Amino acid sequence: MAEMKGQDCMMCGKKELTLHEEEIDIPHFGKTFVFGMYCVACGYRKSDLEASEKHPGMQFTIEIDSEDDMSIKVVKASTGTIKIPRIITMESGEGSESFVTNIEGLIERIKKIIQSAADAETEDKAAKKKAKNMIKKLNNVVLGREKLKIVISDKSGNSAIISDKAVKKKL
Ligand SMILES: [Zn+2]
Repeated sequence: MAEMKGQDCMMCGKKELTLHEEEIDIPHFGKTFVFGMYCVACGYRKSDLEASEKHPGMQFTIEIDSEDDMSIKVVKASTGTIKIPRIITMESGEGSESFVTNIEGLIERIKKIIQSAADAETEDKAAKKKAKNMIKKLNNVVLGREKLKIVISDKSGNSAIISDKAVKKKL
């Protein structure tokens, strides 16, 4: 992994930006260039990834129904959208998170997003209860007790659910 400190920050202009980049090999997806940047001065951060080999734009739909599914790899670039019906939509675009994880890691991320949104909600009791129920459902999914549908789509082909169980559709 290459790391470069003291780079110019495009947000605040100070030389406090740390840039890191690496190439990782993701089985059944190929070599992938991963980079991130973080500015100590203003807190600006950005990360993204790009497959070395160009993949077609694709939508992946999977139904998670067992503990074994927790190890399925998930790749999300900033150009990828993740939709979990009735739970969450992680939109693509500038500033959208990128990551390489597995289904369990994805669920943990989503739980954190739901929890912090619920914590910020001080007045709305119904919203808090809804968040609690969603987290409960996600915990059950991790234990293989409930099913969960996950859809990832990316026109640039840089996001994927890497499993034979995933239904693929060209975009
Ligand atoms: Zn900055």
